[in-house]
Amino acid sequence: MGTVVCAKCGQRFAIRNEPDAGAELAAKQVAWVEDQLVWDHIQERKHHGTMELPAMPPEPVVTANR
Ligand SMILES: [Zn+2]
Repeated sequence: MGTVVCAKCGQRFAIRNEPDAGAELAAKQVAWVEDQLVWDHIQERKHHGTMELPAMPPEPVVTANR
């Protein structure tokens, strides 16, 4: 579980992950939440108590085309 702290107002948010979520996915989720928090301040909105994270599938696998 990751924690994101808003850089503007210091409000803290917990990210509840699937138990098998990798570090890479967790980093993406943190980046996504930080982005939302910045936008909330730009648009002068209050932060949501809970946020629905978008589906973040792993990067596509590259295979050779023969
Ligand atoms: Zn904030």
